[in-house]
Formats: sequence, structure tokens, C-alpha cells
Amino acid sequence: MTNHLIDTLRAGGADPAHPFAETADGTVRTYADLERRTAQYAHALVAMGLRPGDRVAVQVEKSIEAVFVYLGTLRAGGVFLPLNTAYTAPEVEYFLGDAQPSIFVCDPSMEAALAPIATAQGVAQIVALDADGQGTLRAAADACRTTFEDVPRGPDDLAALLYTSGTTGRSKGAMLTHENLASNARALVETWRFTADDVLIHALPIFHTHGLFVAINVVLAAGASMIFLPKFDPERILALMGRASVLMGVPTFYTRLLKAPGLTPDAAAGMRLFISGSAPLLAETHREWRTRTGHALLERYGMTETGMNTSNPYEGERIAGTVGFPLPGVDLRVVSPETGEALGTGEIGMIEVRGPNVFAGYWRMPEKTEAEFHDGWFVTGDLGLIGPDGYVQIVGRGKDLVISGGYNVYPKEIESEIDALPGVIESAVIGLPHPDFGEGVTAVVVARPDAALDEKAVLEALEGRLARYKSPKRVIFIDDLPRNAMGKVQKNLLRDQYKGLYGG
Ligand code: ATP
Ligand code: MG
Repeated sequence: MTNHLIDTLRAGGADPAHPFAETADGTVRTYADLERRTAQYAHALVAMGLRPGDRVAVQVEKSIEAVFVYLGTLRAGGVFLPLNTAYTAPEVEYFLGDAQPSIFVCDPSMEAALAPIATAQGVAQIVALDADGQGTLRAAADACRTTFEDVPRGPDDLAALLYTSGTTGRSKGAMLTHENLASNARALVETWRFTADDVLIHALPIFHTHGLFVAINVVLAAGASMIFLPKFDPERILALMGRASVLMGVPTFYTRLLKAPGLTPDAAAGMRLFISGSAPLLAETHREWRTRTGHALLERYGMTETGMNTSNPYEGERIAGTVGFPLPGVDLRVVSPETGEALGTGEIGMIEVRGPNVFAGYWRMPEKTEAEFHDGWFVTGDLGLIGPDGYVQIVGRGKDLVISGGYNVYPKEIESEIDALPGVIESAVIGLPHPDFGEGVTAVVVARPDAALDEKAVLEALEGRLARYKSPKRVIFIDDLPRNAMGKVQKNLLRDQYKGLYGG
């Protein structure tokens, strides 16, 4: 047996001298460097007592060394567990207690505060790595040999424990196997036509499926290169477009790039692909991007538990407001939430997926795992439909569905109407406890500072455009919608904040 995921990621067969990553200071790491550094980290982790199947929890700033730690963990047979750098000490304590890693890697500045917490949770080894890739873990690795025989791991062995974003409640640990990640990397290389000539602009965080498994695994499996930025920086990205070929981003990347001076068809001419995901892309952003750059944004849909499920086509039309077709090997269906029966074309229901990308279950939550599977299909929690042309549309999260006076109200439909009003930047429609309707449809709107919009104007503009039961009962104006690190609107925070609006 060999190491299943590592072998898949080596399949790009990159020349050892080929660049793997160029970091913000211009340093180039080749595939030979990658091989050596990941071998050294694998040795260091094994020397610290890592056994196959043990978790390595990592909460560090983005750095290329952190990527080498990820791959070194896999080579050593460990299970990689990245933690959001925004997590506070009590949150870290929860995750360490839940996941029981044998090694915890943190920022040197956090070591004094987190070490006692980690020790109390039973973590045997605590080491540090900073944003420049320096620290006690780095020092340990530097002293190790530069070749390492990969620890054998099969397709069903765990490769990662990845916590969900916590948009709808407490984060759950998704157990991802070697084949989950390997099959997704293969499917994305094929769908997005990645080759060794590609240069990806990497500006995403590396503690989520998007920046870690989609971006890095695809680059590796294709033997491609990346320009590795510490964070999203519109000017920097514009300047890099001449040297790169692909950008992966969340929708806010694109709305912010559209505001940056210098975004022209010329600036984007050398690029072959702009990809968006992790949150819904507004049709307006899609349109504006096409007008300003000549490129059709490619939107895809995925989640922590499944990796990527669907993508708009590489060749063929990329339709705004859709997430395209299931990836090779992935089955997707829409079922009635009430009866569980498969629905027909155009009917809105619960999206379920099946395939080699679907995770092995929630860590230490067997009941939750059982509840989220339906006849062998994973219940995504997202509502959507399959159009007559086969394109999948996401209508919203099941948890965000508003039931007002017994009617189902899909927030996205109302948000699209509101977003199209002059002066509106964006909106979120939520249901709030209402004494008469059960839930009152409520619009939370962000307007341009110079727009003379008030509640009455919005309600009047919507009149006749939406059925009465869908029309917001109230409109609230705020400066910004609350978003998490991946740019997802946190409707639960809005629901909490305004829960007494109707006195319910
Ligand atoms: P939690 O499960 O903890 O509440 P989360 O679902 O936000 O958090 P992730 O796994 O990071 O955690 O996000 C997956 C979700 O993101 C999907 O279920 C879907 O709701 C949303 N999503 C991803 N891509 C798209 C897209 N292109 N359009 C609309 N929604 C998307
Ligand atoms: Mg989720």
C-alpha cells in the first residue's frame, strides 16, 4: 500500500525544478524544495510521537511553511486539522478537547496563552510556527533528513478533520478520507483544465476547504504553480494578473476587485479563468465582471463535508445564478423535504449528493451523521433545483427558509428583487418570530450612502413584484451585513439581533 492522497497529489509529475510557490517577498519554492521540506516536517512530527491516524491541529497565520506542515502531516500518516486563526482561546479549547490531537501547532505569540489549555485537553506536544515560517516546529524540521518514506495510507483512511464554518450553528468536525480529497482534486483538475503551465493566485485563507483542498490540492495534482499571498489585496492581484492564469475567490473578492481602479480587459487578458464559490455570487457581479474584463466568472458549489459538488462548465455557457453541473463522479438530486421523494425539473427541494467526495461522517457525532444521510445520500442542508438544461441552482439554506402564514418563502427570491433596486448594495431576508404569521418576512438592507432610500420606498418599489405573502413586513437598514471569514452572511446573528422586532 502507498499513501493514497500523496500519490494523487504527485500525479502532476512536476519537474523538480518547476516552481511550486512564489511567496509575497518573491521567494520561489520549487517542487524539489516541497519534497525536501515536507520530508523534514514528516520526520519532525514522527519524532514528536505522531502515529498514523493521530490528529495534528494547526492554528497559524498563512505561510508556505504551514502548507509544508499540511503535506508533511499527510506523508507521516497523520490527520491534518486546521483551525481558523480568528478562533479565541475558549474556542481553541473546545476544538482541542473535541478532536484530541496529539500535536498542536500555534503562533509563537499565542504559545504562552494556549499551551496550558492544550495541555489540559491532553495534547502531548505544543510547538510554534509564525507568519514568516519560523518557530520551534520549523527549528525541529530544519534538523531532520530531507528524504522520507511516505507512511502507507489507503483510500478510506482519514486525511483531515475539518470543522465546518459554523454559519448555522456550532462547527462540526467533518472526517475526510484520502479518497474524498483525492477524487475531488482529480475531478477539479479535469473540469477546470489545470495543467503544469497554470499559475494560480492564492489569496484565500488556508484553514477552509476552499483555500486548502481546492486551491492547493488542485495545483499539486496538476504539477502547477501558485503565487501565494498572505491575504486578499486587490491592487496586488491586479498587478499579478499579467503573470498568472487562474484566480480562485469568494464573491467579495470580485466585488472588491470591481471597485479597484485598473480592472480592464487588458489587465485581465492573460488570465484564463476566474472562479467563485463558498457563498452565492450575485448575478449583477457576474454581469459586471463580464462587461469589465471580458471573462465569464465560473461559479462552483461545495461544502466542508463534500468538497466541491458542482461547477459551471469550462467550455459552454456559465450561467449567472447557477452553480453548473455535478462534477465527474458526483451524483446530485433534489428531494422533497416532506416526503423524501425525488423532485422533477425546476422544483425546489433539499439538495442531496452522493459520490467519492462525500465525507465519512461527523467526528464523534454518530447520531448527527446518521440524521444527515438519507438512503445513502448526504443531505446538504441547501435548498435548490435542477433547471431544464441541467444547471443546478442554490435557492438558499434550509435553515434560512422563512415560513410565513404557512407559506414557504425563499429569501433569495426577495433578495434578488431588493438588490435590483437603485441605491441598494445588498440585502438579507430573514424570518423573525411574528405573533400572526409565525415568522415575519424581514429585509435587512445595505444602501449606498448617497441613496435616499427608506422603508416606505423599498416596500413601494416591491409592490406588485412579489406575492403579498413574500413581501417584507419590515425593512431595516444597516451599514454592513455580518459575514464570517469566508464571506458568508451570518443570518443567525441577524435573527438574534432583531428577534423582538414584532414583539414575538
Ligand atoms: P455550518 O455547516 O457550520 O453551518 P457552513 O455550511 O457555512 O457552516 P461550509 O462547509 O464552509 O460551512 O460552507 C458550505 C456552504 O456554503 C454550503 O452548504 C452552501 O450553503 C454555501 N455555498 C458554497 N458555495 C456556494 C455557492 N456557490 N452558492 C451558494 N451557496 C454556496
Ligand atoms: Mg454547512
